Amino acid sequence: MPTIPRLFLDQPLSAGTDVAGSEGQAHYLHAVIRRAVGDEVCVFNGRDGEWLGTIATLRRDRVTFRLTTQARPPVAEDDLWLVFALLKRDTTDLVIQKATELGVSVIQPVTTSRTNTARVNETRLAAIAIEAAEQCERLTVPTIRPPADLITTLLHWPPDRPLFAAIERADAGPIRPHIGPCALLVGPEGGFSPPELDALRRFPFVVPVSLGPRILRAETACLAGLALLRSSGFS
Ligand code: SAH
Repeated sequence: MPTIPRLFLDQPLSAGTDVAGSEGQAHYLHAVIRRAVGDEVCVFNGRDGEWLGTIATLRRDRVTFRLTTQARPPVAEDDLWLVFALLKRDTTDLVIQKATELGVSVIQPVTTSRTNTARVNETRLAAIAIEAAEQCERLTVPTIRPPADLITTLLHWPPDRPLFAAIERADAGPIRPHIGPCALLVGPEGGFSPPELDALRRFPFVVPVSLGPRILRAETACLAGLALLRSSGFS
């Protein structure tokens, strides 16, 4: 039995309806994994749970699916945000992919005084998040916000959401599992600047945390911090 392809479709899903896939999905099904009309697919849109269906029509650049049954109803997913200082392109891509796998619901890239880049290709990052969500069996795709300045982000922060700020060589307690809405903040390769560290300490929702005695690369800090924050509360 070939594995059933799992695809994200940004349109309403319900029993008995026919929905069109994208040109990229048609190409993938037709030319890459060589599926045919009648073969099974599994689709999700981030709102209506997960649906089983079959390929109704398939050409090189066009595909439609006929939905049959709901395999999983929609569920409230983890309310976990990641705020991270923008990294080099490949490393940012990695953080988006892994944060999606680790259940992050909102990703906020930020610029800091030691961040070297302020630009991202939002379309590519969205595609990476969709592919990771398809692969890891999530029912939603994280929201990726446009890059914003760190201090501006803090000034607009919802005060009831704790922001666990990973700060190396500080006298901060270890990061611990946290159930409920929260966020992780990770700085740039060069670390936060002294004025940024001062600013972070002034916001009451900021909780400085340590990720251990070693200095981690920023991408490692993102993944380790997310995993540790959510290391309880799932089965
Ligand atoms: N260049 C800096 C290190 C920056 S590491 C220096 O040598 O001091 C990049 C980011 O990862 C930091 O801003 C911090 O958010 C996070 N980080 C890395 N290691 C950490 C640790 N042991 N505890 C907490 N945060 C850490």
